[in-house]
Amino acid sequence: MLQSLFSPFLPKHLGIDLGTANTLVHLRGKGILLREPSVIAIDKIDNSILAVGSEAKRMLGRTPANIIATRPLKDGVIADFNQTHRMLKYFIHKIIHHHTFLSQATVIIGIPSGITEVEKMAIKEASQKAGAKHTFLIEEPMAAAIGSDLPVADPTGNMIVDIGGGTTEVAVISLGGIVNHESLRTAGDEIDEAIESYIRRSYNLLIGSRTAEEIKISTGSAYPCSNETEIVIRGRDLFSGLPQAIKLHSGEIREAITEPLNEIVHTIESCLEHTPPELASDIMEHGITLSGGGSLLKGIDTLISSKTHIKTHISPDPLGAVVLGTAKILDESEHNSEFKTMLLRHSEH
Ligand code: ADP
Ligand code: MG
Repeated sequence: MLQSLFSPFLPKHLGIDLGTANTLVHLRGKGILLREPSVIAIDKIDNSILAVGSEAKRMLGRTPANIIATRPLKDGVIADFNQTHRMLKYFIHKIIHHHTFLSQATVIIGIPSGITEVEKMAIKEASQKAGAKHTFLIEEPMAAAIGSDLPVADPTGNMIVDIGGGTTEVAVISLGGIVNHESLRTAGDEIDEAIESYIRRSYNLLIGSRTAEEIKISTGSAYPCSNETEIVIRGRDLFSGLPQAIKLHSGEIREAITEPLNEIVHTIESCLEHTPPELASDIMEHGITLSGGGSLLKGIDTLISSKTHIKTHISPDPLGAVVLGTAKILDESEHNSEFKTMLLRHSEH
């Protein structure tokens, strides 16, 4: 198997980021071909798939009794194994359908680091069943660091903080390995929930999770900035039961999301405290790198650098970092022994 993997007549390479909020697929030579929400909608009556990805996400919170729209990987664990399997297969087939020559593909999948051995086996199996010839798995923080162009193979400390939908992963990487790692089940989803509950408590107004996410993206911030804004939002009044609109200021949204943001900062601080001094001093020098959709929250880099006193950068493509990392590790492993070892070490599952 290794011989064929590293031979010059290599089958096509497919890199997949199976995230709690979004799934991305990269095809060698073509780039990122798919960026879709990790959501699947099922007809409860005959268990058939109604929609996957963006179309299914639009159904979240809007489904009649016979339809369930779910995020099978929410919280970073595979909450619904069967639907994860179907979703992954659907996404791989979407690419294979357009590129029939891919049926003998080598697939590398970035997986949340908290998942169990059984879940890892299950993901591998789903990939094989979808038509992949070989499947490798890699922990997301490693893929995110590689996709953010950090010098992971060097004898220097690199800190990557990947803030996704369900989980925040903080890792210190040196010499191609994860030296220190902390995973937190607080990320973008909890920020949305904090907004939802603030609006319920303060205005007796019920909003859905999609609206909360939209408020976060358009008006949310982690640190005060010069252009504070206002937003009009609509929801259902708890007492009258009728639709109602209110105006929110960006400052109060920031206040509402303090708790999940503090948890993220504390996890970074705790990881730094457990980092050997030489590596910690490398991180002081080179800074912290943020990836994942959560790093797009306005001012989150300033918040982290103000609390840790370490300069904080955002990855060039925060949402694409993991999938770009999976693609790069496969490519590099052909001629770079450090990457080859890394790939094999991470695939001994
Ligand atoms: P995962 O890896 O878990 O699938 P992603 O890295 O795709 O997660 O990030 C998804 C999270 O990023 C969601 O919580 C989403 O609301 C958040 N997000 C995406 N864009 C922005 C933005 N511009 N501002 C704030 N949060 C964002
Ligand atoms: Mg991710």
